[in-house]
Amino acid sequence: MKSLVETDELGFYGKFGGAYIPELLYPAVEELRKAYLKYKDDTSFEDEFKALLKDYVGRPTPLYYSEKLSEKYGGKIYLKREDLCHTGAHKINNTIGQILLAKRLNKTQIVAETGAGQHGVATATVCALLGMECIIYMGEKDMERQAPNVQRIKYLGAKVIPAVSGSKTLKDATNEAIRHWINNPDTFYLIGSVVGPHPYPSMVAYFQSVISEEIIRQLQEKEGVNHPDKVIACVGGGSNAAGAFYHFYDVPEVDLIAVEAGGLGVKSGKSAATAQLGKPGVIHGSYTLLMQDEFGQITEPHSISAGLDYPGIGPLHAETIHSGRVDCIAINDDKALDHASFLAKSEGIIPALESSHALAVLDHLKIKKDEIIVINLSGRGDKDMSTLTQNME
Ligand SMILES: *Cc1c(COP(=O)(O)O)cnc(C)c1O
Repeated sequence: MKSLVETDELGFYGKFGGAYIPELLYPAVEELRKAYLKYKDDTSFEDEFKALLKDYVGRPTPLYYSEKLSEKYGGKIYLKREDLCHTGAHKINNTIGQILLAKRLNKTQIVAETGAGQHGVATATVCALLGMECIIYMGEKDMERQAPNVQRIKYLGAKVIPAVSGSKTLKDATNEAIRHWINNPDTFYLIGSVVGPHPYPSMVAYFQSVISEEIIRQLQEKEGVNHPDKVIACVGGGSNAAGAFYHFYDVPEVDLIAVEAGGLGVKSGKSAATAQLGKPGVIHGSYTLLMQDEFGQITEPHSISAGLDYPGIGPLHAETIHSGRVDCIAINDDKALDHASFLAKSEGIIPALESSHALAVLDHLKIKKDEIIVINLSGRGDKDMSTLTQNME
């Protein structure tokens, strides 16, 4: 039987996926697809990727048993510490993989977009590492909201270009980055999540799959089991969730729970609950679920966490949530804030606001004694300190 993480020839996971791109980009996307298939199973590529993950990113990241969460909720609750990766989140796993592919393709210029700036920082970081020119598009409004990350990106030697169209946020920056790519097809477009045209969703999920690979090894060591009972991860585009779920999609005993941003409430008109509110359509080159109005215009999402503030969701998640393999729960802004505060005060770990949504799902589960639960702590909260302190009681 075909694995749930595999697509067909055209890049579809069941109904969702594909590559909806302008004719001009076809050669670039085809070149990338071939390179990905070639190097995915190439030992020297694999060795270089794994060596950087180990010595540059700091992998394996710990699987930390949280006594406080286990006491409060029951079961055995583990945190997969992606917050301890270099640059503070899981995003660097993928940017390392893609920059090594860009090098194999003899590319010298990298273009990317960023919303909160986390993917921009991870991209600027690997471009500095490999000596490549780096251009980051960012919505003008996001540049104001995320000023510290703009500074980091510039300090790393990258160029930041403001996107001034539309709502001046992530989807506008993405449109500008794609435009840049169309005008400069020799540029390597480095996408930050499991979104975009095939092969990006498969490729990004594969580069992030190191997360579940490590979880398996670490649970064998700590608990003597081959898999957890539940894995929980937040979903913006869905790359940290795809990585944490990857080796468990085809193990039906493992419950997979995706957590999206409920914002001020799923029915409030101010949320980013794409799986629940979205309808099928094409966004940024892929057929998937997206939040749109009756005329097919993309609706503006809202979440307190910039990383979840995206109107689409990766096609792998659209398919697996649609089929019922993955459960999806929305968590509102206020609950995410409460759980960030609880983890900080009880464990001394300040989580990213995105990851705090995953923690908050614990309030919604019936947990059996001895059940093993892994929560993917996708990033650390340093970038969120101003929001976190404004909401301190
Ligand atoms: C960007 C980001 C996310 C959301 O992106 P995914 O592709 O859904 O993982 C989640 N957590 C953190 C810390 C992020 O920086």
